[in-house]
Amino acid sequence: MKIYCYISLFFFILSCGNDIVVENVATVFPDTIAGKPNRITYINSNRAFNDLNDTHLAAAQKIGIKPLASRDGIPTASKKLYLIGGPMRYNEPFVVDELTHSSPFLVKEAYDLLHDIGKNFQDSLKRKNLPAYSVIVSSVLRTDADVKSLSRRNVNASKRSVHCYGTTVDISYRRFEKHDDEGPDAREVDLKAVLAEVLRDLKNAGRCYVKYEIKQACFHITARK
Ligand SMILES: [Zn+2]
Repeated sequence: MKIYCYISLFFFILSCGNDIVVENVATVFPDTIAGKPNRITYINSNRAFNDLNDTHLAAAQKIGIKPLASRDGIPTASKKLYLIGGPMRYNEPFVVDELTHSSPFLVKEAYDLLHDIGKNFQDSLKRKNLPAYSVIVSSVLRTDADVKSLSRRNVNASKRSVHCYGTTVDISYRRFEKHDDEGPDAREVDLKAVLAEVLRDLKNAGRCYVKYEIKQACFHITARK
């Protein structure tokens, strides 16, 4: 009987230890009340993300590179460019599509912004008890030659895309990369809503301008200073 009591006491202490672990989890994600994941807000993206092209362009011209005629100019661009994606960068908090009309390079401000978007999205999914996913980047830096091949027209200054400055990325709101093939999928509408929340917070913090692009099913995002 005495031994039974000691064993019970041992398991009681063990279970107290478990409680502490649960508290630690709540500390890592401060806006989670233990057992109650925070809720998803369904933002009206059309209304929330309507920064005009001129606004994007002014920010891009302030912090971006001088537009390049072709990809040959990337190594000698007017500002340092940072590479994203590729097999060596598998631990980045986002996935870069196989790019056809752009190259995976960004100026520092946009590079940092993209990392924060990816990280905040993954942290937010965790806090909401949703499965792990990464956002997918579908367009990055375009040269005049890329713009020309997209539009099949001569490029002049007014036709120049904000993507020519290395400050701007497109992130899909329809496609997300799931980390673990097993387990239930998250609903597309929820993933889009979580991404919209992340972008709204960064936009409100003065880090970026955002345009909701229905035709391309993406958020068009320009870093700002
Ligand atoms: Zn875009």
